[in-house]
Amino acid sequence: MTTTAKLRGGVLLRGVGKSYGTGDATVHALRDVDLDVEPGELAVVLGPSGSGKTTLLNVIGGIEAADHGRIRVAGRELTGQAPGSLSGFRRRHVGFVFQFFNLIATLTARENIEVVAELTGRGDRGRASELLAAVGLADRADAFPAQLSGGEQQRVALARALVTDPDLLLADEPTGSLDMATGRTILRLLQDTNREGLGVLMVTHNAAVAAMAHRVVTMRDGRVQSVVRQEAPVDAERVNW
Ligand code: ADP
Ligand code: MG
Repeated sequence: MTTTAKLRGGVLLRGVGKSYGTGDATVHALRDVDLDVEPGELAVVLGPSGSGKTTLLNVIGGIEAADHGRIRVAGRELTGQAPGSLSGFRRRHVGFVFQFFNLIATLTARENIEVVAELTGRGDRGRASELLAAVGLADRADAFPAQLSGGEQQRVALARALVTDPDLLLADEPTGSLDMATGRTILRLLQDTNREGLGVLMVTHNAAVAAMAHRVVTMRDGRVQSVVRQEAPVDAERVNW
């Protein structure tokens, strides 16, 4: 972390719960979750499948509303916000990266980024070129997703997530469908982004990735089982799996 960067994207959760379904079919995806992530931290969320990791990211990012509890992200109180203002929050303050990239197949790399800049009214369109260069894809701007490798598609997705200049980047299994070498280039970009001051919260079921985190959050059965703060996170290049 550089000392000059403005640290952004802190997260505070208190007693957050989220269930799906009703009656006997009720699933408690999050049970009374308390969590603190400091601005500027790279946090890694570990836990088995079904432990609530994606739900945690979605309530922090305002994709879903929690049933109860308090949520504060990047200095904004999300608790009790109407769906409309929740989506305003999401557009202005968070960026998302997903396991399967979720690019629009009929748009080029550049257009996938520009369309988000336009829809959100955040970031000028010219910024797409700058961001594509930053992820090493300046020469692939006019390629469609199907013409790009998985790693290249994820780099476009990362550039798209950054076009709104968010405070917090939420990444759900961003290396989950990539081989190790390609995954590591994505981890490097996420770490670079974090070192510019953005908060990063990354879900993975790959425990080795935790080595690069300032904070490691382990979930089990909808609860935060442990939180470990690490003073000396390793460089992305040193993560092996
Ligand atoms: P993880 O990301 O750790 O695999 P999830 O947050 O996706 O876990 O899911 C936590 C629990 O909530 C699981 O039991 C899952 O089946 C359930 N769940 C998640 N999303 C939904 C949904 N939209 N409808 C019903 N159940 C869901
Ligand atoms: Mg998940």
